Amino acid sequence: MRLHGVRVPHRKNTAKMSPVRIPIPETVTIPMLMHIGKPAKVVVKKGDTVKVGQLIGEADGMLSSDVHASVSGTVLKIEQRLASGGQKVDCVTIRSDGKQELCEQISPPEVTDYKSFVNALKHSGIVGLGGAGFPTFVKLSVRDLSKIEAVIINAAECEPYITSDTRTIIDQKHSVLRGIEALQKYMNVKRFIVGIEKNKGEAIAVFRRIAARTKGVEIKVLPSIYPQGGEKVLIYHILKRIVPKKGHPLDVGAIVLNVTTLANIADFLQTGVPLVEKCITVDGSAIKNPQNVIAPIGTSLQYLAESAGGFRQEPAKVLYGGPMMGISVPSLEEPVLKNTNAVIYLNEKDASPPRTTPCISCGECIRHCPFRLDPREICRSYQRRDTEALAHLQVDICMECGCCSYVCPANRPLVQTNKLAKLLLRDARNQKKEAES
Ligand code: SF4
Ligand code: SF4
Repeated sequence: MRLHGVRVPHRKNTAKMSPVRIPIPETVTIPMLMHIGKPAKVVVKKGDTVKVGQLIGEADGMLSSDVHASVSGTVLKIEQRLASGGQKVDCVTIRSDGKQELCEQISPPEVTDYKSFVNALKHSGIVGLGGAGFPTFVKLSVRDLSKIEAVIINAAECEPYITSDTRTIIDQKHSVLRGIEALQKYMNVKRFIVGIEKNKGEAIAVFRRIAARTKGVEIKVLPSIYPQGGEKVLIYHILKRIVPKKGHPLDVGAIVLNVTTLANIADFLQTGVPLVEKCITVDGSAIKNPQNVIAPIGTSLQYLAESAGGFRQEPAKVLYGGPMMGISVPSLEEPVLKNTNAVIYLNEKDASPPRTTPCISCGECIRHCPFRLDPREICRSYQRRDTEALAHLQVDICMECGCCSYVCPANRPLVQTNKLAKLLLRDARNQKKEAES
């Protein structure tokens, strides 16, 4: 794997803006699925009084995550809503009492060793905050700690617009440092390598100061090329090791942790307050005053935009995340999720899809794919519903970075087709398994 990717406009309009805490909304709607894995099970009922940080959804099984109230108030309703992955999930709507009273049971967890560290994180509700949403306690549950040669701190933030990680580094530098110290102490991690793009001067300076006073911290300043922050891409550019196609970072001795996740781990260990609010970049051509805000999880995207100064134009498209990997939301009533690091509101002009023309077989999509996949062939195989060919083309390792779509001169919707092709292949494999069992 060599460096493939694209140079995208950075549009880091909010990089110098510390986040502003928005007023508490009247209601929040908190889904039980904001992570990879099984949805949490609702443990409150309509009419219950809840306080900030109180458990409202209990992790269901090994790969799941606790969910907590982000405001104090009364449970207004529990209903099923369609999540961005297409499945229906329980959502708890809480009417705020405006008091933001903290749940009395919250206190810093007692952590003395690795076992109690992981156990504490189980109750933190923390998931991968770079966008992946993988439960953090699962990622850090490692059978053999000696296998961890390095923890890579992902501070690349390569997507256009998004600056919430950058602000975390600058504004919560002490939390970042405490996060490193916690992993050194409880997981015996000897080597931390910060992967950060060179366009983040102030954040790089923060890490240089941390490295000067903390043994084992190295900084790798990387070119600003998208998708530098992709887990496997980052590992390759830092360790020069290739994660096996269907393997995990630990197969090459690494754990990759998003920098905001690390800061949240430290804050949780210090206070015991679980993940109930997020720093979010609010930007895009439809937004009047782009800025970073801190919002309770469950805040509606309409309220989020209004609290951040409102719209310059009616948004025609709204994205969870950046324009390359972001997920389009169906309505402004959708809530801020645990892994929402940005919400981008685009006007009609920026939202209109470009005119698509036939493929000219230029091969640009292959040349710019970080994994050298062949999106053109994937597209053809998908149109034939040829799952054998899709398996052969390894569509399942596509990270949906969007580089292929970005460079295609014919404006083919390649990443969208890849997503559909992955689902088709997954369904075919499940059907085969069922038939064999
Ligand atoms: S970049 Fe677009 S036009 Fe070129 S080969 Fe790929 S799909 Fe075809
Ligand atoms: S095929 Fe997948 S991994 Fe490759 S560039 Fe396209 S979206 Fe990215």
